[in-house]
Amino acid sequence: MNIVTNFPFCDILNQKMDAVAKEADQTNEIVSYNPATGAEVGRVPITSPEDVRTAVERARTAFQSWKKTSFAERAVYIMKAREMILSQIDEIAHLISAESGKPFGEAISMEIAPVLDLLQYFARNTEKLLRPARVGIGLYALLGRSSRIVYHPLGVVGIIPAWNYPFSIPLGEAAMALMAGNTVVIKPSELTPLTGLKIEEIFEKAGLPANCVQIASGAGETGAALVDAAPGKIMFTGSVATGKKIATAAAQNLTSVVLELGGKDPMIVFADANLELAAGAAVWGAFCNSGQSCSSVERLYVQEGAAEELTRKIIEKTRQLKQDTGYKETTSVGAMSSERQIAIVEDHVEDFRAAGAKIETGGRRNPSLEGLFYEPTVITNASNDMRAMQEETFGPTLPIATFATEEDAIRLANDSEFGLTASVWTRDHAKGQRVAEQIEAGSVCVNEVLYTHGIGQTPWGGFKNSGRGRTHGREGLMELVQPQHIHVNRIALLPDAWWMPYSPTAVMTFRGFARYFATGSVLQTARMLPQLLKRIKELWK
Ligand code: NAD
Repeated sequence: MNIVTNFPFCDILNQKMDAVAKEADQTNEIVSYNPATGAEVGRVPITSPEDVRTAVERARTAFQSWKKTSFAERAVYIMKAREMILSQIDEIAHLISAESGKPFGEAISMEIAPVLDLLQYFARNTEKLLRPARVGIGLYALLGRSSRIVYHPLGVVGIIPAWNYPFSIPLGEAAMALMAGNTVVIKPSELTPLTGLKIEEIFEKAGLPANCVQIASGAGETGAALVDAAPGKIMFTGSVATGKKIATAAAQNLTSVVLELGGKDPMIVFADANLELAAGAAVWGAFCNSGQSCSSVERLYVQEGAAEELTRKIIEKTRQLKQDTGYKETTSVGAMSSERQIAIVEDHVEDFRAAGAKIETGGRRNPSLEGLFYEPTVITNASNDMRAMQEETFGPTLPIATFATEEDAIRLANDSEFGLTASVWTRDHAKGQRVAEQIEAGSVCVNEVLYTHGIGQTPWGGFKNSGRGRTHGREGLMELVQPQHIHVNRIALLPDAWWMPYSPTAVMTFRGFARYFATGSVLQTARMLPQLLKRIKELWK
């Protein structure tokens, strides 16, 4: 079975699939379709729940040796994986584009380039970021004690991504988990199974020891089996509804989870902003990946006075966008990922229409294209009481509302169950900072939009229903390790005053601890020294 004949560099993938297919039940497979053309991209056998458990067991065994490797050794594999990606960059981009519908160029700019940067950063910096650190312990240090934190890997990390960034999200999380000393099992989205297998192939070609990165293919049931297999951590990216199911299932084994969920991200444009730039940013932020980014601009609030000019510029720019199949280099807006997703967009556009908003451009499936194409759609007269301004659309729509004052803008932006990202546009940097800090979102840009997931050095995650925990940055790395506190008493000559047996002298000393020692002040603590000596003498008898 040659599953990916359109992608010449997928030789290992084809061999692997042949091997897997022989073992697997041939009828039990996912068919991956190109949403732009409806053509079959390939087929992948579904990993059964038993095989998922076995994969996690194999990953646990592999962890025993992998955790002993040095950071430098791990970095060699990650840097080799980078080389593998670079050597087949166009083929990977075409595969991503074929499975997801996004433009081929965008697969490079928004997935491959950022994840290459993330790989080099964590290959070079994880050792420094996880260096054992001494902790200041205040007055305990005067008693000859010291504390150090060392970081241990968790074991097996289970990664369950969405389909919208099917390469960069699971690959980046896997690389960070590996650098921290964990092994990994990824359950790719059922809409992009071949891109998932490509990640496994890249690590295999990089020479990574067996079972350090494995793929379990399938839909929700396979993901649920991965959660039930009780890995050390689940890194989940997807909808709020699935995130809740995973958190509930993971609780059965006390497995901790990072949840990267949805967004309804606001863009605030003040009248003093550079409107030409803001218009370009709004168009890219709303229509990149056909609006199927968790950090897409889903609501635009423009200050009255600038609304007319900004809206005109946005409409002009939107009308110039070329929508077509993703493999053409001139395509700016590709296909949507699935019929289910396009149906949500249609529902929301109808909701806007019915509620009195105006569809300025787009507002329909593209009649000249056969696949799942929805035209980039600009909507004016939107307001927060419309359902479509509250629910995540995840499609190429840009609803525009107006505001009068800074306070209004902040209130409207925060009027959402979500809080993933936001952007503020103004020439007044002090105002930009001030407003940014009042927005309830995990990342807020001033005069920038959408792309901060691409900065692997910075933490990524949401407030409110947009998620729990972080990926990327030092904070994301900390999710993939368990800190261990090593506490040493270098002058262990005397018993501690709080040891047994207790007595009236002991209780008096404990009062001194509460009143003086717990102030953190040396001077105050000095007042209890006579009582402390009395207590030590009592214990020393
Ligand atoms: P989804 O929740 O339908 O599926 C996500 C993944 O979970 C898939 O791999 C799916 O197979 C798996 N899954 C489904 N049911 C499961 C279960 N019971 N147990 C275990 N796994 C299960 O989401 P989707 O439609 O693939 O993705 C779209 C959503 O992802 C949007 O809401 C978007 O905002 C969000 N997203 C968030 C971020 C972020 O960083 N915050 C990034 C990308 C996408």
